Amino acid sequence: MGLLNLHTHLATRAPGFVEIESVYYGQIQKPAADWYSVGLHPWYLPAADWPGAEQWLRAEAARPEVLAIGEAGLDKVTTTPWTDQLAAFRLCIAVSEEAGKPLIIHSVRAFNEILAEKKRAQPRQPWIFHGFAKPENVALPLLKADCYLSFGAALLKKDHPAQTALKHCPPERFFLETDDEALSIREVYHQAAVLLNLPEQAVRQQVWSNFQRVFAPDPAIFAPKIAQS
Ligand SMILES: [Zn+2]
Repeated sequence: MGLLNLHTHLATRAPGFVEIESVYYGQIQKPAADWYSVGLHPWYLPAADWPGAEQWLRAEAARPEVLAIGEAGLDKVTTTPWTDQLAAFRLCIAVSEEAGKPLIIHSVRAFNEILAEKKRAQPRQPWIFHGFAKPENVALPLLKADCYLSFGAALLKKDHPAQTALKHCPPERFFLETDDEALSIREVYHQAAVLLNLPEQAVRQQVWSNFQRVFAPDPAIFAPKIAQS
């Protein structure tokens, strides 16, 4: 069993970790982790080169080391035009379905709009809201729509409302991550265990079994690398 970090921009390559590094179109830096996700990030959309972006996304999505599509989503705070965001998000949804890989979602004040897209697309692939840092009342409709939540740095902030969201999240629906924070995933697991009043090992086991179920990683390529770590 590895220690899963669902979403990071700062892979550590430390032994025993399974890190899903987030890579976006246009990113210069190559992924450092063994596993990654690929997406069209609403902050960095290809102003002119849509065909290039689409080609890149489809080619990357087919690679065995790409475990998910994303981050992708909608953001009400960024300056990227909404129509471009929507086009990019819909493309990522389509590629996630075609590749048969889960979708990792970036949402800033756009939970309702993203749920509307889910209703429209009726995806078969799981959708995971990463960096979830909202209270329980925001989590509930997402969970009701069969989505997953990935919690990170917010859990470590004193009395942060995301802590209550984690406590009320069904165990089979959550993941843990570090995103772009200079934070060890171990600290996040430790804090989740404290909040859930569970041994840390139980939290690791839970997230690992969620990972196996949701990502169904191909054992032929996955097992040898895990055994090495
Ligand atoms: Zn991110």
